[in-house]
Amino acid sequence: LDSKNFSDESKTVIDFIAEYYRNIEKYPVQSRMEPGYLSEKLPESAPFGPESLEEILKDVSESILPGLTHWQSPNFFAYFQANASTAGFLGEMLCSGLNVVGFNWISSPAATELETIVMDWMGKMLKLPSSFLFSGTGGGVLHGSTCEAVVCTLAAARDKALEKLGGSENITKLVVYASDQTHFTVQKSAKLIGITKSNFRVITTSFSTKFALSPENLRAAIEADLKAGLVPLYLCGTVGTTACGAVDPIKELGEIAREYEMWFHIDAAYAGSACICPEYRPYLDGVEFADSISLNPHKWFLTNMDCCCLWLKQPKFLVDSLSTDSEILRNKASESHSVIDYKDWQIALSRRFKALKLWIVIRKHGLTNLMYHIRSDVGMAKRFETMVATDRRFEIVVPRKFALVCFRLKPELESDGSELNRKLLEAVNSSGRAFMSHAVVGGLFVIRAAIGATLTEDRHVDDLWKLIQEKAQILQSQDVN
Ligand code: PLP
Repeated sequence: LDSKNFSDESKTVIDFIAEYYRNIEKYPVQSRMEPGYLSEKLPESAPFGPESLEEILKDVSESILPGLTHWQSPNFFAYFQANASTAGFLGEMLCSGLNVVGFNWISSPAATELETIVMDWMGKMLKLPSSFLFSGTGGGVLHGSTCEAVVCTLAAARDKALEKLGGSENITKLVVYASDQTHFTVQKSAKLIGITKSNFRVITTSFSTKFALSPENLRAAIEADLKAGLVPLYLCGTVGTTACGAVDPIKELGEIAREYEMWFHIDAAYAGSACICPEYRPYLDGVEFADSISLNPHKWFLTNMDCCCLWLKQPKFLVDSLSTDSEILRNKASESHSVIDYKDWQIALSRRFKALKLWIVIRKHGLTNLMYHIRSDVGMAKRFETMVATDRRFEIVVPRKFALVCFRLKPELESDGSELNRKLLEAVNSSGRAFMSHAVVGGLFVIRAAIGATLTEDRHVDDLWKLIQEKAQILQSQDVN
């Protein structure tokens, strides 16, 4: 790595990316490539000698870009957005450029210390109780994904419960509770820590609770399990579910979790970011009953992939479960117990200096602009929702809370509308002009317009609506003919 060459080549790549952003609207949003397309374009084996950056970037343009779904396109409305920003990119550059591996404090003190500071900054922006902050009695860590955060908290909860029950053979008694709207990552995580499907309770939600987990139904499931000799272990509540943005009643769920001595985790992967705005903060009321809460800044907080914040009230349980004692890592700082060794707060040993990225995102925007960012996305979602609601052919299926709008084309009486809406979605996506995804909620196929890609403006939302209307018109005229 020589610094002259490093600087020149890095500038070339940055110019390449800037050019990509300038032209991003020209690409079909969803890739049109067929499976296996890339092996036809690239050599079968690695080159023997070095190749130039020019040759490589040419291949990126010609072979890689066509195989991308352009998540940063302003016309990307699928899944949940993965916000990129200049600040996030600058942070990534610094993280990758410095390339330190902060698995314990001594391996790079600044990496650990900045992470603790940034986790407290974020926690304070969200008005988390001091029991989740280092400046209080808790603490936080950056993971790569919610899945990792959930696996780790489940492992902590499991080990804590097994110790109380007096032996690992009791694992078959432990039960995890979630709703049918909870992200599948929780079920996957439960499986990874040894909870079988038969001990994973999926509480059904419905239109009547706007797809929020009902405390009464939860209590009934717990009571039935207790009668069967099982032990409630872990409850996951969600603020902003993936399918439709539903919010579970955190306070009521938290009280139940406390009553039955369960670990209560809040998954705020998507909508947690909105809770920096006072008007959305009430969705987190009751967070004081939780043991842990996680949020993905890589979704809606202008932080390039990847970044997941996890706060814990008692990090000790995480450390008890995940710590390892290795001679090669032994050092005075760790032995003094006055430092944090983040390797004991996560699955892997190695870790990136992600805190730099989040720190720069927060500093370069400030709380005011971060709140503006959330509000402007919600404003665009409201605008879209109004347009949908005023067209009699369409209906909003689930009331919107954040920047996700779930809607559908109303079907003929004898049909459930799935086929019609599937066709509509396919027609929109295959046009290349926009990309949305779907969900099935309450048995209905709904189209999800997740508004919030960093570059999206009102005009893109208006274009999306025109495109939907145009495709709906074609579909309906085909139906008639
Ligand atoms: N939880 C919710 C509510 C989500 O919407 C998602 C992803 O969209 C996840 C969890 C999964 O997050 P990750 O990919 O970081 O594991």
